[in-house]
Amino acid sequence: MTVAALIVAAGKGIRAGGSVPKQFSSLAGKPVLAHSHEALSAHPAIAQVLVVIGPGQEQALADALGDTPFVIGGAERRDSVRAGLEALADKGVTRVLIHDAARPFLPTRVIDALIEALDHAPGAVPVLPVADTLARGEATLGDNVPRAGLNRVQTPQAFHFDAILAAHRAWPADEEATDDAQMLRRMGRDVVLVPGDPMLEKITHPADFAAAEARYAATLISRSATGFDVHRFEAGQELWLGGVLIPHDKGLSGHSDADVALHAITDALLGTIGAGDIGMHFPPSDPRWRGAASAQFLEHAAGLVRAEGGVIDFVDVTIICEAPKIGPHREAIRASIATILGLPASRISLKATTTERLGFTGRGEGMAAQAIATVRLPE
Ligand code: MG
Repeated sequence: MTVAALIVAAGKGIRAGGSVPKQFSSLAGKPVLAHSHEALSAHPAIAQVLVVIGPGQEQALADALGDTPFVIGGAERRDSVRAGLEALADKGVTRVLIHDAARPFLPTRVIDALIEALDHAPGAVPVLPVADTLARGEATLGDNVPRAGLNRVQTPQAFHFDAILAAHRAWPADEEATDDAQMLRRMGRDVVLVPGDPMLEKITHPADFAAAEARYAATLISRSATGFDVHRFEAGQELWLGGVLIPHDKGLSGHSDADVALHAITDALLGTIGAGDIGMHFPPSDPRWRGAASAQFLEHAAGLVRAEGGVIDFVDVTIICEAPKIGPHREAIRASIATILGLPASRISLKATTTERLGFTGRGEGMAAQAIATVRLPE
């Protein structure tokens, strides 16, 4: 048994709004298409994942997934599926899952159930029960439609490869097809039902993106991690704190701009994904970081968290020094950190304390900062 997966990503996505087709739009930190592509690619039973894109979408695909096998689809969804099936023909594929990129979140459980169902039938689809009351009517309410026995049909739809290829080849060119499963049924073949999943809901309209983000966020696990940093005061240096230049008679010295607050936050964010510390990512021995603005370190750490599907919820930082006074700069620093992280300022907390003239901060020899970051990540 060789299982392949076909992802149909050829739509122009006009209804979902935005400047790029919806399958290439960003959702939960990555392109919509990347979510189901990862789920299918990671499944141990699936040997090959082939993406069907529209003409001229090659660069968008490369930006979304890098180098990945694809074919160019046609004007209708049915043409695109056909192109994908023909590309897989005579390659030893025995079972195929046909999925729409507009359903980004694809639980492994559904993939398992579909592949298993093909042991007993040539086709299988995931379905959800209809919960709402269904009724006819345009301007005024008509009769109810009994919902017993009705299903909401999702994708992926799974098939014996030769059977669905034959169904596509036999389908009349001038007839519209609602989905692949109906094409197989036309051949007199059975399509069995497996439980679908609310996570598989389709993205069609702009508001669906927010709903999908919320569905995704509900599956995440909260994690917190801390960061700590110290830099030495030196006369003649600029003092950068949280990406803001603070007027003072001395500044912090270090290899980069020595922004002790941004370094502590960077380490906290790296900590949430177990990605080591700032020195591993930006070694002091590397001349590229001499005098560098530390905002780029923090942007990098935030990018790593988001690349893992993470959502940054909150950052709290405490600056430890006798002088300068942080209060007058608090809001500017909060706003700066928020901008770097792409978050509202309400998600950033900034505090300051002295150490009662004790220790190196108390003697004014240097400044310290500690931070804690709270993120939500996939399990
Ligand atoms: Mg540092």
